[in-house]
Amino acid sequence: MSAPAFFFPRTVAEAADVLDAYDGAAKLVAGGTALTLMVAQRLVSPQALVSLRDVPGLGEVRIDSGGDSEDAGVLRIGALVTHAAAARHPLVRRHAPLLADSLAVVGNAQVRSAATVGGVLAEADYASDPPATLRALDARVTAHGPAGERTIGVGELLLGFYQTSLASAEIVTEVRVPVLPAGTGSAYLKYTSRSHEDRPCVGVAAIVRCADDGTCADLRIAVGAACDAPLRLGAVEQQARGRQLDDATLTELADTYADRIDPVSDVRGSAWYRREMVRVWVRRAVERARLRTRAHEHSKERAQ
Ligand SMILES: Cc1cc2nc3c(=O)[nH]c(=O)nc-3n(C[C@H](O)[C@H](O)[C@H](O)COP(=O)(O)OP(=O)(O)OC[C@H]3O[C@@H](n4cnc5c(N)ncnc54)[C@H](O)[C@@H]3O)c2cc1C
Repeated sequence: MSAPAFFFPRTVAEAADVLDAYDGAAKLVAGGTALTLMVAQRLVSPQALVSLRDVPGLGEVRIDSGGDSEDAGVLRIGALVTHAAAARHPLVRRHAPLLADSLAVVGNAQVRSAATVGGVLAEADYASDPPATLRALDARVTAHGPAGERTIGVGELLLGFYQTSLASAEIVTEVRVPVLPAGTGSAYLKYTSRSHEDRPCVGVAAIVRCADDGTCADLRIAVGAACDAPLRLGAVEQQARGRQLDDATLTELADTYADRIDPVSDVRGSAWYRREMVRVWVRRAVERARLRTRAHEHSKERAQ
């Protein structure tokens, strides 16, 4: 087999044209952390590799403020921003601390300094950390292809095991993360069953906003790494609104996620074990997020 041709386009359109010309036989390279393993293991044998290295603008982080509207703004992270750079970026830490936390626990420092925000979504490996968080945050990606540009919600992008809704010549250029309203609490909890540097056995992202009386005004829970794509149960989240997130509600939420998930069995845990871990970690993540809400801080102050 001959070595693949290498391309270093200078624009996204040029990159999409090369991918289109190879009709599925070319692969994009971002951080290369997943692709090099796939090539080494002969899971893929691309005829061409297309690097995004020389395309300007894909390594930037910006914020679109919401102005006077109720909208708190949108954080825009270029597809080539590495996990390490995003996790320590002041805009990400300030406007999306949940995302910074989940990027900071990926693998090890070497992986984090190469792996990119676009790459982890395009790879769609079920055993990843950031996708669950991005799903909970209602993030959207911008994708550019021969037919033009479109935005796709992370829930519609991640279809299943290593499967996305991207066309073969479509390129993720940006991840757009809506900023959460002030006072919202959030937590990402990663559970590893082998070593602390391992991919997650289960990862849970939880977001909680409480009304002044302490009842739940907004709840989002995304369970990652336990099934084919991050799981959110919208109707269950809705039912928690207006209720106290007390012991009974937390038990009900954890049991519902554990009962409804269709867990995968792999080296990190059997399907039975994963279901039990979902029960444990959903509860812990929601509890942690609730403790970080402003309503909780106020209730502590009133008690003092
Ligand atoms: C030792 C090790 C430990 C790891 N541990 C963890 C962990 O604990 N948690 C975790 O979440 N992940 C973990 N990972 C996975 C790692 O985070 C992913 O490999 C990484 O996110 C992929 O990003 P990349 O930029 O390197 O993608 P690449 O390897 O460059 O590409 C991956 C795939 O996506 C495509 N692609 C890349 N960029 C784009 C784009 N912009 N648009 C369209 N398609 C694109 C490529 O063509 C390829 O098919 C680990 C990986 C390794 C090697």
